[in-house]
Amino acid sequence: MRIYNTLTRKTEEFKPIKGKTVNLYTCGPTVYNYAHIGNFRTYIFGDILKRYLVYKGYNVKHVMNLTDIDDKTIAGSQKEGVSLREFTEKYALYFHQDLKTLNIKEADIYPKATEHINEMVDIIKKLLKKGIAYKAADGIYYSIARFKGYGKLAGLEKANLIPGKRVLKDEYDKESAQDFALWKYWDKADGEVFWKTSIGKGRPGWHIECSAMSTKYLGQPFDIHAGGTDLIFPHHENEIAQSEGANGKKFVNYWMHSAHLIVDGKKMSKSLGNFHTLRDLTEKGYSPAGIRYLLLSTNYRQQLNFTLEEAKAATKAAETITDFHKRLQEAKPAKSNGNAEATIKEQLESFEKAMDNDLNISEALASVFGLMHELNKLMAAEQLSRNEAKKAKDAIEKIDKVLGILNYANKTNKDNEIDELLRKREDARKRNDWKEADRIREALKQKNIIVEDTKQGPRIKKTL
Ligand code: AMP
Ligand code: ZN
Repeated sequence: MRIYNTLTRKTEEFKPIKGKTVNLYTCGPTVYNYAHIGNFRTYIFGDILKRYLVYKGYNVKHVMNLTDIDDKTIAGSQKEGVSLREFTEKYALYFHQDLKTLNIKEADIYPKATEHINEMVDIIKKLLKKGIAYKAADGIYYSIARFKGYGKLAGLEKANLIPGKRVLKDEYDKESAQDFALWKYWDKADGEVFWKTSIGKGRPGWHIECSAMSTKYLGQPFDIHAGGTDLIFPHHENEIAQSEGANGKKFVNYWMHSAHLIVDGKKMSKSLGNFHTLRDLTEKGYSPAGIRYLLLSTNYRQQLNFTLEEAKAATKAAETITDFHKRLQEAKPAKSNGNAEATIKEQLESFEKAMDNDLNISEALASVFGLMHELNKLMAAEQLSRNEAKKAKDAIEKIDKVLGILNYANKTNKDNEIDELLRKREDARKRNDWKEADRIREALKQKNIIVEDTKQGPRIKKTL
């Protein structure tokens, strides 16, 4: 399998550090808002990468952090007048619900930044000891002049670096590659948010969080670090500087970055206001499977231009695959013309060949549609035997371990909430707690769901 490595700017043969184990870190969300579908394009890229590694027989250990302390989460919690924890937990929960809706495989660990302050302090202390970090009036900074490789990931010219000049904010652009904050001393604007540590009272910068959480769970070096292209600079550049600076060894072997989802030529983003959340789209009637298909079907290094028309087409494409799978199960036994097996083998091989080539999903999907086209022809001509239909079904299910489109419940968060209420109402009825059962019936009514109790159990009717 070959993958494009942002660090070397080359497509390379992928070789894990240890046998068939792959240690994978993907930068997770900053939990200060609903994630939008641009964010989910990046998470789906991570999902496809992981699923394909598993398909190839690797054991993947996947860590995804949750950034629950940074400039944005503090500002958000203050605006809502709730504690940082209450604020971020709410959005973390929404995030997990959305992952479920999109059939994204769960990571093995979701470490939270606020629970790894000690690990961050340890790295900062090492950097101070080595003279790579220094103290200033408002915090502890990383001296980019003291790390020889600074700029290697983003391809920065030495001439464009401004060492000695300091940036306190977590986000800034390439034009101002400066000394960045590792630790921000407490300031009254941060209110209740601070940790008292041996390096002073304050809070971490954003970049140190991922250095600490990735190596704690995956070691150093580890195999693959992934995220959206906007994270190359400064976030990932700074992670390299911190981890390699502190520990004197390579941080990560392969860096993979997915291009953005764009709308009318601009990156979908919260700040531009041109975003759709997953909830907006499912409420408009787009199926989760369709949205998943849309987000996975463009090669990850190409920008994905989002339109509602494309979302409709993707919904159709996802249905085509599901229907085909159903038809194979229902295919009438027929006499084979002997062609099916070779077609299945050929298309499965070309699916793998495409995926082996830096996850070339558009070519891989062309093989899937090629397979469906050929076998549909055989089924229509009644030339597909039962045994061949079974082989075709196995092949499409194998492919679907990567795509994640089949057997898709197509449930939205709203459906899940309704299921949960129905389950609670049944529990109450079993306990003869009629008051609670009626309360839930009323709550469902507010959601336009009418419950009728029949002999076969409760039945629901949706009203508009
Ligand atoms: P954030 O919550 O802003 O830290 O972003 C979380 C992830 O979403 C990061 O990996 C970003 O690179 C990614 N991301 C943000 N906007 C987009 C977009 N329009 N298209 C694709 N990925 C994005
Ligand atoms: Zn990160």
